[in-house]
Amino acid sequence: MADPHFEFWPDRMPVSLDIPRTTVWDNLAVSARRYPHRTAIYYYGQSLSYQRLLEEAQRLAGFLQNELHVSKGDRVLLFMQNSPQFIIAFYAILRANAVVVPLNPMNVRSELAFYIEDCEPKAAIVGQELYDRIAPLNGTSLKHIVVAAYSDYLPPSPVVQPPEEVTAPRVKVKDDDVTLWSEALTNGGPPGPHTARSSDLAVLPYTSGTTGKPKGCMHTHYTVQATLAGASAWNHLTPNAVALATLPLFHVTGMQHSMNTPIFTGGSMVVMTRWNRHTAAKLIQIHRCTHWTGISTMVVDFLANPDLREVDGSSLQFVGGGGAPLPEAVGEELYRQTGLRFVEGYGLSETMAQTHMNPVHRPKLQCLGIPSFDVDACVVNPDTLKPLGPGEEGEILLRGPQVFKGYWRRPSETENVFVKIDDGPPFFRTGDIGKVDEEGYFFIVDRLKRMINASGLKVWPTEVEGVLYKHPAVKQACVIGVPDERRGETVKAFIVLKSPERGKVSEEEIIRWSKERLATYKYPRIVQFIDELPMTGSGKILWRKLQEDERHKWNQA
Ligand code: AMP
Repeated sequence: MADPHFEFWPDRMPVSLDIPRTTVWDNLAVSARRYPHRTAIYYYGQSLSYQRLLEEAQRLAGFLQNELHVSKGDRVLLFMQNSPQFIIAFYAILRANAVVVPLNPMNVRSELAFYIEDCEPKAAIVGQELYDRIAPLNGTSLKHIVVAAYSDYLPPSPVVQPPEEVTAPRVKVKDDDVTLWSEALTNGGPPGPHTARSSDLAVLPYTSGTTGKPKGCMHTHYTVQATLAGASAWNHLTPNAVALATLPLFHVTGMQHSMNTPIFTGGSMVVMTRWNRHTAAKLIQIHRCTHWTGISTMVVDFLANPDLREVDGSSLQFVGGGGAPLPEAVGEELYRQTGLRFVEGYGLSETMAQTHMNPVHRPKLQCLGIPSFDVDACVVNPDTLKPLGPGEEGEILLRGPQVFKGYWRRPSETENVFVKIDDGPPFFRTGDIGKVDEEGYFFIVDRLKRMINASGLKVWPTEVEGVLYKHPAVKQACVIGVPDERRGETVKAFIVLKSPERGKVSEEEIIRWSKERLATYKYPRIVQFIDELPMTGSGKILWRKLQEDERHKWNQA
């Protein structure tokens, strides 16, 4: 019998690209040699050349190696907002042959304590507004903190008004185990040799998962280089590209598209510490930005700016993003106002950003795009793992050079996400339900995994439930994602209270409890008390039923 998918299979053959066997640090070293005087970073009017970026990263690397004894493979936390220091520190850690552990600046102390226990970092490089949160954890497996004031990099007269945390003067810290950024840069001496290899660990971004505990995704220099080479080739990036960096750099999409790709190609980054639509519009005009990788909430906000008509955005050639779907109407509005098509991409922390990109000249809306270079992607029946044909819905599987090496110190969870379906290397299970159309474009339709996507920030219900169960009045909790006009999805908790507590505890109390213990994007915005949760015969909570009921209500409204 003829294989019904025969026509489809040949298209699955990945298109290959030469991925450099160099380290991510080498990208900066090369760009600084080629374009020493070109601006690498613009920061509210300040310009930092490639030469300066290289020198400051080397000086900080010297401090890490000589003073803090950071050596090959050691983990260093990077806990700060978007700033020149984030970029300098990222490259300094790599220059010191160590591993960058980027953390969301929204993390609260208990979350930080978990990361520190899990990855045992030698040092942390921290924005000063976040210092109080991490300071009590210094002296555990974390031994030293470098504190950075963003104002160190502000020009005397900024071209646009920076946010408060950027203009705040330098804090005074007196502690033997804390060093100010400016001192670290002057006290380190020259760094030792750069001995990292392409196969060594480079970045450990954390993601959560079904167990509720965040897990570090092990990325080598090679896996990082794979997406960088892919992104720059796909979008024909040249040193003339000017990227507006508004996405958080701690997350793989911002890290790769707004920071590492420009450095890979020798382009410039216009760094914003905090999102502001007026500032973004002015910076696009002033610096003639050519590329903007954003997220749907930013694009919606950007287009709602009443002054947008006054702004010259003619330099923009590319507006795109990933991590969450862009509503079709927003894509249409962007096109109407700017003549640009939104170019969506798809990827995960486990794949160091994109595995799929829309072709710039033939993008489809609400579509993940087509597999990027060297990516073998397919859709399978999640139970039988049998490959499916065009239009059929199933789990998206991926393999390619950008796929991570596993979860840090979690071999069994690593094993669970890799499957072998043919004679080639195993595929990574994304937990996303999708389909492919006749032209090879992928679409996401649902998720197998229990994850909430709140404007690109991922919330794992089991982690939130863990916090809710600690409340003395809570008997049972079930957290789901419900549709939200602005965030795409938002967090809702169904709570069964212990019977003596019924009527005594309010929804606000539950929200307050969660807010104190979780990063701001994770706490439930909606709490509903119910008498009992729907359960299977074996006692499992039917979270999907609750979620489907909520989606149904939303569609009816
Ligand atoms: P993260 O590890 O934070 O990058 O999250 C990865 C997840 O984000 C994926 O498994 C998807 O569920 C979701 N995601 C990524 N890109 C898109 C997209 N373009 N549209 C919808 N969801 C996306």
